[in-house]
Amino acid sequence: MTLSLQDCRALDAQDPLRDLRDQFKLPAGVIYLDGNSLGVLPRTTAARVAQAVTDEWGEGLIRSWNSAGWFDLPQRLGDKIAPLIGAAPGEVVATDSTSINLYKVLSAALSMAAVDAPTRRVLVSERSNFPTDLYVAEALCRERGLRLHLVEPGDITAALTPDVAVLMLTHVNYRTGAMHDMPSITAAAHAAGALAVWDLAHSAGAVPVDLHGAQADFAVGCGYKYLNGGPGAPAFVWAHPRHADRKDPDIWQPLAGWWGHAAPFAFTPDYRPAAGITRYLCGTQPILSMVALECG
Ligand SMILES: *Cc1c(COP(=O)(O)O)cnc(C)c1O
Repeated sequence: MTLSLQDCRALDAQDPLRDLRDQFKLPAGVIYLDGNSLGVLPRTTAARVAQAVTDEWGEGLIRSWNSAGWFDLPQRLGDKIAPLIGAAPGEVVATDSTSINLYKVLSAALSMAAVDAPTRRVLVSERSNFPTDLYVAEALCRERGLRLHLVEPGDITAALTPDVAVLMLTHVNYRTGAMHDMPSITAAAHAAGALAVWDLAHSAGAVPVDLHGAQADFAVGCGYKYLNGGPGAPAFVWAHPRHADRKDPDIWQPLAGWWGHAAPFAFTPDYRPAAGITRYLCGTQPILSMVALECG
């Protein structure tokens, strides 16, 4: 069957998602297929960011941390991202970059394995994973004296031997578009005694994701691709509640900072992690970028 441009336009006209297209601003005549790298500009973003600068910063000044809701933006945005990835309210925060969030969750997962199963000394990932994920994993393995085992996509379950601590994968491959079966691979990792860390950079906002359905352990994802948050937008992080509240200081995420403290304005000299995913925050967040991400 051949499909003409006219046929495509006719089908577009019947598309139930058609109205959503009008919420985004593209130069006339551009058909944009690069949302996997930089999502398009929502129509509301420019005015909302201008208002945050002029009113909230310019007029509200320091009061805006509370009166404009700046301080709670990581949790508020996390709650908006949660339904896109099969997470519950209160389980996600928007913060930092994908690379940095991956460092936090991978480090926490490796620390959990070191406490719970110290004979497990291997981190498995896919050779064709996005390079920053592999570099973060390489550096962590070097620091902890672990082995990074990179395999082809078809060899993942076979690589889940009894010495594996963590399996780290990207759900949808950035180059091929191939999508892993998250529930079955996570189940295989758990059956082998390993934790499963998922990068959702190319799935959140693009395809259905169900972290709870898959019983995943940790996840991170990107704000400037399919979430249309703008260049360098904050990323997000999720930990399954069975992990997020663990008390042992040996398994804290490594970037302990005051925004992740149980009582940030008590200004105590010692760290006490906040409940749940809030402990995965580190320090002060880029509020103007957060405001833009909320429009996306
Ligand atoms: C785009 C992408 C990143 C980007 O990480 P940054 O910290 O935002 O540079 C990370 N991982 C994957 C799998 C990606 O596709």
